[in-house]
Amino acid sequence: MTAHHASPSVPPHRYVIIGNGVAGNQAAEGLRSRDPEGLVTIITNNRLLFYNRYLLPLLFRSHKDWRELQSHSADYYQKHRIRVIRDVRVTAVDAGRRQVMLAHKEPITYDTLLVATGGRSYLPEELADSRHLLNSFGTYEQAMAVKKALPDRGTVVMLGGDMIGLDLARTLLSIDCRVVLVTHETTFWPHQVTPEVRMEFLNVLRDMGMDVIDGDAAGGVTAIEPGTAGLPARRVVFRQGGDVYGDVVMPFYGLVPSVEFMMGSGTDIERGILVGTNLRTNDNHIFAAGDVCQIWSEQEHAYRFYYGYQNVRAMGAVAASNMTGGNEHFAITQNGSLRRDGHGHIDSSFWAYD
Ligand SMILES: Cc1cc2nc3c(=O)[nH]c(=O)nc-3n(C[C@H](O)[C@H](O)[C@H](O)COP(=O)(O)OP(=O)(O)OC[C@H]3O[C@@H](n4cnc5c(N)ncnc54)[C@H](O)[C@@H]3O)c2cc1C
Repeated sequence: MTAHHASPSVPPHRYVIIGNGVAGNQAAEGLRSRDPEGLVTIITNNRLLFYNRYLLPLLFRSHKDWRELQSHSADYYQKHRIRVIRDVRVTAVDAGRRQVMLAHKEPITYDTLLVATGGRSYLPEELADSRHLLNSFGTYEQAMAVKKALPDRGTVVMLGGDMIGLDLARTLLSIDCRVVLVTHETTFWPHQVTPEVRMEFLNVLRDMGMDVIDGDAAGGVTAIEPGTAGLPARRVVFRQGGDVYGDVVMPFYGLVPSVEFMMGSGTDIERGILVGTNLRTNDNHIFAAGDVCQIWSEQEHAYRFYYGYQNVRAMGAVAASNMTGGNEHFAITQNGSLRRDGHGHIDSSFWAYD
C-alpha cells in the first residue's frame, strides 16, 4: 500500500534520510518505488557517493579508484530522483519544527525522517590523546592513508581486533605484511564469544600467521608514541611495561552508534536510537534503521543491535515500507557466528553480503 499520493492539492511528501550507507540507500530505493511522487533526500557527511566499504581491504591488493567500489553511480540517483546532499554533517534534529539542521546552519524540512547514520569506531578514553598517531579504517580516504603509510611487508599493530579489523588482517597477511593483534574485550566484536570460543579463534588467528599479544596480561595499552629514528613509525606502550613497534597502528574496538546530533530531539536513545520492530521511534515522524538503532526484542525483553549486511538491508526495506504507510516488522535474516573458511581463516557469517 502506498499512503502518500501527490495530487494538485496535496504537496509531495518530503522524506529525508540521514546517512548514505546500506540502510539509507535501501530505504531510498524502497521509498522511490512505493511513493513515485515523493521527494527523497539523502544527507551524508561523506564526500563520495555510496560505495561498498566491505571491499576496502581489496585496495591493498591492487590500485582501485573509489569509483570501482561504488554501489550506485550519480546517474542512478538522478534516474530515481533521489537527491543526495554530500559532505555535510547533520548537527541537530528539531522534531517540533520537523527540521534537520546542517553544520552550516541550513535547515532541511521533512515530513518523515529516517536516521540511518550507522556507527563509527570506538576509541577507549585512554587513547584519545594518541588519536593523531592512529589510523582508522572507516572510509576510502582512511584506507588509502593506511596503504600509503604501510611499507612493503610492513607491520600493522591492530588494537582490539573487531571483525572489521580481522577481515582486513586476512588481506594484509596474504600480501606478506606482519599483523600484530593486541587483544581486548572487543576482540571478535560484534560476536560475543565464550572463553572457550575466544581461545579457539585466537588460535585460528595464530595459525593464520598473526602475532597475538594478550592485551589484558599486558595491562592494556597506555600510549602510542612516534617511533624513533631507525625504528618503525609507531610505538605501542603497555601499562605493565614493554612495547611493540609497527608502521601503522589501527584501532578496531567495534563501533558506537552515531547519535550525538539526536540528543535534544526528544527521541528515546539508550546507546542507539530505540525503535520497535517496525523501526518507529517514540516520535511518529522519525524512524531509524541500521547500525544506529537498537530494536526491541520481545524474546529478550531488551533493545538490541543487529549487525550484518543482510539485516541492515532488511531494516532499510522495512523502514521504507512503514514510512509510506505499511505495517512491516523487522525479522532477523542473518545470525552471527564465527567460523573458518575453506583456507582455515577466520570468517563471520555477519560478513556474508551476497
Ligand atoms: C571498513 C568497514 C568494513 C565493514 N565491512 C563489513 C562487512 O564486510 N560486512 C558487514 O556485515 N559489515 C561490515 N561493516 C559494518 C558496517 O558498518 C555495517 O554492517 C553497515 O555498513 C551499516 O550500515 P548503515 O547504513 O547502518 O550505516 P553506515 O554504512 O555506517 O552508513 C552511515 C552513513 O551515515 C553518515 N553519517 C553519520 N553521521 C552523520 C551525520 N551527523 N551527518 C551526516 N551523515 C552522517 C555516514 O557518513 C554514512 O554515510 C564494515 C564497516 C566498516 C567501517
